[in-house]
Amino acid sequence: MYQTKPNINIERLSANFDDLADIGATPEGGVNRLALSHEDLEARSWLAHQFELAHLEVQDDEAGNLSGIWRCQNPDAKTLLLGSHLDTVPNGGRFDGSVGVLGALECVQAIQEAGLDLPFHLEVIDFTDEEGCWQSLFGSRALTGNLKDNYTYGLTDRVAPFRAALFRAGIRPQDISHAKRDPETLLGYLELHIEQSYSLDDTKDDIGVVTAIVGRTTYQITFHGEAAHSGTTRISARRDALFGASHFIIDVYDLVRENFPDGVINCGNITVEPGSFNIIPSVACVTVECRHSNREHLQQMETMIQELAQEIADQHHIKVSIQPSGQMPVAVMSGQMVMAIEQACQNLNVSNRRLHSLAGHDAQSMSSFTPTGMIFIPSVNGISHNPKEFTHWHHVVTGVEVLLETILLLADQSG
Ligand SMILES: [Zn+2]
Repeated sequence: MYQTKPNINIERLSANFDDLADIGATPEGGVNRLALSHEDLEARSWLAHQFELAHLEVQDDEAGNLSGIWRCQNPDAKTLLLGSHLDTVPNGGRFDGSVGVLGALECVQAIQEAGLDLPFHLEVIDFTDEEGCWQSLFGSRALTGNLKDNYTYGLTDRVAPFRAALFRAGIRPQDISHAKRDPETLLGYLELHIEQSYSLDDTKDDIGVVTAIVGRTTYQITFHGEAAHSGTTRISARRDALFGASHFIIDVYDLVRENFPDGVINCGNITVEPGSFNIIPSVACVTVECRHSNREHLQQMETMIQELAQEIADQHHIKVSIQPSGQMPVAVMSGQMVMAIEQACQNLNVSNRRLHSLAGHDAQSMSSFTPTGMIFIPSVNGISHNPKEFTHWHHVVTGVEVLLETILLLADQSG
């Protein structure tokens, strides 16, 4: 349907990448742009300026999501959202999130320069706080109406600093719910992102076509024993909460390895009371996170982990309480988007494979709201959330080209 084939401008993409990486740059070669921090706000105003230079309509919503919109001639057309996030984890890498936002901007500029009028509007979006400095996927959850009124959920003593950060970014807490969009106005969402894991680097494929993003459940599993004198209490008579918790940690890894080879478990922290070398621990609280890309398997995993905690508590004559602290369901990508991305790779003669994302992304919130697709490019050695995070530049370019080709295929299908 297009006469002039759009081409991405690699020099412009590269200059934008370098300029953005300078904002919040750390001495180790990484980036510090925590959501709503001064560095994050500087990056947003830099991006808004790039949108203006590209003649896009600049918009931000009540959750601080920042957009640059290129409208087609039909005012009633739907919008294809393209984007990711500019915020980072503390001392994060230069590629996580930024590739998706800058790649989307480059695609829109290439389409403009080719003089194409697509059958849908294009909107480049930078979502607020993807990384969860305050609330993970804050912006995309607000846009899909999944944040509701509990935007401070789980923050306890960080509520006031969060409010202050929101106000600093011009976000009024009472207005956040108005960021919810009508899904009828959207054609879909596409996100280009680094893989942050090993599979593409291992197989040497250029592109990963994401079919699902893992679901994630977190718990506080607390073992309750009885404090006693460590010198005078026989080992056989003890009700040691930490001993029980340690037994649980060892066994839960075996359980997941043996029964869920595609699943992941992490025991990330343990707090012990009273926490003294001469007192038998009365309380040991373990934070547990499990992930799986298959809904049924994730549920089975959760059940088996809870049963194991109970079994071990019984063996040690202690009690256990299990407090769920977070739940992110498995997100399945749209079949139409998966096929369009695969077709784009085929058209460009780019090697690709289907895979699951083991990390969370804005596409996770978007997938139950509008047809969503995700394009992965390789991360060298799977390193991410680290200044050493690296993706070869030719892979970034290939990723942006596949994103552009996918947009053009969707235009063909919708036209
Ligand atoms: Zn990311």
